[in-house]
Amino acid sequence: TDAYLQRAESAAALNAYVRLTPEKAKAQAELSDQRIADAEARPLEGIPLGIKDLFCTEGIETNAASHILDGFVPPYESTVSANLLADGAVFLGKLNLDEFAMGSSNETSYYGPVINPWRREGEDTKLTPGGSSGGSSAAVAARLCAGATATDTGGSIRQPASLTGTVGIKPTYGRCSRWGIVAFASSLDQAGPIARDVRDAAILLTSMAGHDPKDSTSIDRPVPDYEKALEGGVKGLKIGIPKEYRLDGMNAEIDAIWQKGADLLKAQGAEIVEVSLPLTKYALPVYYIVAPAEASSNLARYDGVKYGLRVHDDNIDEMYSKTRAAGFGKEVQRRLMIGTYVLSAGYYDAYYLRAQRVRKKIADEMAKVFEEVDLLLTPSSPSAAFGLGEKSSDPLEMYLNDVFTVTANLAGVPGISVPAGLDAQGLPLGLQLIAPAFGEETMLRGAAALE
Ligand code: GLN
Repeated sequence: TDAYLQRAESAAALNAYVRLTPEKAKAQAELSDQRIADAEARPLEGIPLGIKDLFCTEGIETNAASHILDGFVPPYESTVSANLLADGAVFLGKLNLDEFAMGSSNETSYYGPVINPWRREGEDTKLTPGGSSGGSSAAVAARLCAGATATDTGGSIRQPASLTGTVGIKPTYGRCSRWGIVAFASSLDQAGPIARDVRDAAILLTSMAGHDPKDSTSIDRPVPDYEKALEGGVKGLKIGIPKEYRLDGMNAEIDAIWQKGADLLKAQGAEIVEVSLPLTKYALPVYYIVAPAEASSNLARYDGVKYGLRVHDDNIDEMYSKTRAAGFGKEVQRRLMIGTYVLSAGYYDAYYLRAQRVRKKIADEMAKVFEEVDLLLTPSSPSAAFGLGEKSSDPLEMYLNDVFTVTANLAGVPGISVPAGLDAQGLPLGLQLIAPAFGEETMLRGAAALE
């Protein structure tokens, strides 16, 4: 714990942590020392973790990287972080993210962007660690924690993992409780781990997952020992390559790494087959209707009355609008505008309702392909880490980052990103495995074979 805290302090320029909590960490570590001495160690005893600042932590300020949550100190602990604490983990502090987890580069954070510890060979350009879990991915990649919590609404665990050479798991919807996690788009949000390797990620997921009566969408199903699944191997598994994921004009290096991954799985006894998911092209537009719609509803609660920031005005309507104008950043305001528009009386049928129908078809198509194959293999992200500021002026270009990841959220199925190699500039690229709902164990068998 001391070593990680020192490293985290000396790497403050990466901006991965928004707040370190050394006193609390040291007290937890001392307790862990005692339990180890008493031969009463729990599964994660003394393991120093970083917590994405979207998870409410009891008595520790939680802002979701938004000005509007300034000074908000939750009186309760999120279920996922409580599960980790109950297993003996030590929390080093809270990690930076895109504001309310809306973004793919960590540049929408009120606390400024996170810097990826990776650089292009021979260059000093500062690169993004991905987003929205950019603090989590950068901290794990730079060894500022042994593992981190993260959340994934449209790719925010898998894309940052891909851009930093780390492993990230988005579990099945309902596998981890959403209780105490600041809500973005409730039907898509899932918590999961970012870790150095597949084994660490599997161990963290075992601890994070589980039924929670406080989240009505949490599923009551026993949690397997995910670490054990790693021994399974891929012999006899049928793995599909969805041909629609081969985008026009896609970076040839990504294609080569994808092929290499398929060859690696084949060499270990898996059967590789081409499959078709024709609705893939609708996933991104559907996501960018459904996610903002749910966000506009979830973020209605930040009105200057109950939480954080309040800009005073004698007129209550003025107080609401001044608080929201000052408290939300540009990207969040853009999402709220889109979300309110697609839910409005005149446009609801044309946008929101239609998007919901297509979403169901996408989920059905996904379920159907899993009657043929055990897993899908795709790239995690259409590019390696890009420079800060490179895409932030064009929201549509930024949204394209999520092209390979949003389908799993729309369908509620699990996905993992595993480091698969370096591009010509020396930057990491990840491959994604997608499994049917509650297929995490099979997915981990595949991931271990890719590592
Ligand atoms: N990049 C996507 C978005 O901005 C996904 C974010 C996420 O998964 N939290 O909505």
